[in-house]
Amino acid sequence: MRIFIVLLAVLGSALVNAGEPVWLKGNIHTHSFWSDGNQFPEMIASWYKEKGYDFLALTDHNILSQGEKWMSITALKSRGGPDILEKYLEAFGKDWVITRGEADRLEVRLRTLEEFREGLEKNDDFLMIQSEEISDRSEGVPVHMNATNIQELIPPVGGATVQEAMSNNLRAVAEQARKTGKPIVLHLNHPNFGYAVTAEILAAVVQERFVEIYNGHPGVNVLGDEDHASVEKIWDIANTIRLAQLSAMPLFGIGTDDSHHYHGRGTSRPGRSWIMVRCSQLDADVITEKISQGDFYSSSGVILKDVIFNSKKGKLELLIDAEEGVTYTTHFRGTTKTADLSSKEKKTANGKTVTRIYSEDVGALLATVSGNNPTYELKGDELYVRAIVTSSKPHVDPTLPQQTEQAWTQPVGWSDNSRRNR
Ligand SMILES: [Zn+2]
Ligand SMILES: [Zn+2]
Repeated sequence: MRIFIVLLAVLGSALVNAGEPVWLKGNIHTHSFWSDGNQFPEMIASWYKEKGYDFLALTDHNILSQGEKWMSITALKSRGGPDILEKYLEAFGKDWVITRGEADRLEVRLRTLEEFREGLEKNDDFLMIQSEEISDRSEGVPVHMNATNIQELIPPVGGATVQEAMSNNLRAVAEQARKTGKPIVLHLNHPNFGYAVTAEILAAVVQERFVEIYNGHPGVNVLGDEDHASVEKIWDIANTIRLAQLSAMPLFGIGTDDSHHYHGRGTSRPGRSWIMVRCSQLDADVITEKISQGDFYSSSGVILKDVIFNSKKGKLELLIDAEEGVTYTTHFRGTTKTADLSSKEKKTANGKTVTRIYSEDVGALLATVSGNNPTYELKGDELYVRAIVTSSKPHVDPTLPQQTEQAWTQPVGWSDNSRRNR
């Protein structure tokens, strides 16, 4: 019998099992003309749908695709290119495109989510999930958190410190979820954007359960630098601190596009990273709950037929949907209970405190396995284990040096630790 990651108390409605679960593909970090993206929202959503995605969350900065928003032709062209309107008209027709004024004074009204979702969702083969990038700031750095399946706008709450801002926004989202009875996932975006969030802060804000571990925007320092840990290292450190010292649940890792640019130029393009959620229904509440439960993996190209964690046998098994002529290497990483968790303070040249330096024991490489069916048998002393599959196939639109396609599974083997303390 397959026993999946322990199911945790979740926020709202009950999961309805409409059939066998399948893996649904979705991107939950996307920008449009509603904030600083350079394309109309329905053009973006159509792109994702055509590429085989099952769901999409538009996550504009501190705004939902609601109400009346007009954009001047000058602004549209300067962001989207000289033929932006022609392409929009070509795709959706003049009956759909709402304009006012003429020539240089022409303005276009952005269609709302309520208006454009119908056309995309009518065959029940695609879903829009209303979402927002709550874009806060504290201590001079960005604190951005994506609220997936939000029902009403939440303006950034702010806070005297990064940690406080995170906690305050988490509280506001939990309050809305309670009030509406709808589950919301609030994930911390790009911790290394502006090197805003250290591993220690991420560990300490235990209400936060999700963090971006790959983001397709090339400006968010996924790999860190000589002063700063990589995002994956931050993930391992934070999870180790939580499980070893705080008796708290680990964070689940999310891959996203953070796409802004849709015309083949510009830096943050769509299609670079996504999540695959194991789900039996194309429904926003159900998908959000499955993400809450950690029943998903992140990908930048590698597809898994299955991720099986048998907690009784202590075995993590992956079935890779292998492509012809491509080889796969899986690294199992984790931290053991006997690991050296000591750390040294680290400061940058200008005196800023950053993620501390830990031994190699934290997020240690526990095993390397080649092939399409990598497995790891837990020895019993692991705080958690996770798998990273790296393929030999070059990434389709890389943001990192020599980047090949990857997949990241969630930490497993920790359920006893946190359950004991709940
Ligand atoms: Zn952001
Ligand atoms: Zn963003």
